[in-house]
Amino acid sequence: MEGPALYIVATPIGNLGDFSPRAVEILREADFIAAEDTRVTQKLLAKFDIAKPMVSYYAHNLRGRGEELLGRLRAGACCALVSDAGTPAISDPGEVIVAQCRAEGIPVYTVPGPCAAVSALAISGLPTGRFSFEGFLSAKAGERRAALAELAAERRTMIFYEAPHKLRSTLSDMAAAFGAERRIFLGRELTKLHEEGILTTLGEAVARYGENEPRGEFVLCVEGAAPEEKKVLTAEEASRELSGEQSARDNVRAAREKGLSRNEAYRAALLAKRAAEQAEG
Ligand code: SAM
Repeated sequence: MEGPALYIVATPIGNLGDFSPRAVEILREADFIAAEDTRVTQKLLAKFDIAKPMVSYYAHNLRGRGEELLGRLRAGACCALVSDAGTPAISDPGEVIVAQCRAEGIPVYTVPGPCAAVSALAISGLPTGRFSFEGFLSAKAGERRAALAELAAERRTMIFYEAPHKLRSTLSDMAAAFGAERRIFLGRELTKLHEEGILTTLGEAVARYGENEPRGEFVLCVEGAAPEEKKVLTAEEASRELSGEQSARDNVRAAREKGLSRNEAYRAALLAKRAAEQAEG
């Protein structure tokens, strides 16, 4: 393993069997490990018999500690970055140091593995072809509702992380913003003993958790908005939008562009012509 290099190492989101042999190897070989919470990572290292110096790198020391990490990387060190669970930099520390390394030409490598968002999406039963990762919504009701209102017309499947104590209010706000009929997949305690996956509607999800206090970790995948059905105008409606001064041919073309059939387009052009004649007296 040649430095300098930053390795972004994914760790299990619940099941230690998901820790990859390569992740273990990289943690063993790195010069040091930067961890979101060294106590959490220490337990993982102990389970896999890894002894390695660690420094903490978490939301509130990104700047100072980031400079220190960069200093060591510039000097040729290999650093493995881990978070408490899942893939670093995805709603977890990592984005800043990766950008800093990229800016300085320090190589960044991935050691892929679990990510709660992608894991939930893959088993959701909702469309996976296009999706949008939304992370955590704001804890402030106003900001949360505004963010959901902006997403109301989003066509892609949307993925959210949520803490159990905020789940009820988030589900109610989602039902208000997206409609009670919109489908949602709730992935709870994925890969753990009490794993549960529920594909239901927002309305039913609100009712379900109104009765049962949510427990554990949740990923929410919400179906995208259905494409708006284009309303086809009647010949009468279309004729009112046509100009009596245009040639019949242009009016037929304009009516066809509004989605009318050939016959209906001719009828609309005729109606527009008659209306123009009547107006002239
Ligand atoms: N970086 C992590 C990843 O790649 O999945 C996510 C970190 S984020 C701080 C933690 C959130 O991920 C939790 O609040 C929950 O929404 C989701 N999460 C993590 N593990 C989970 C699991 N086993 N089951 C369901 N959701 C999980």
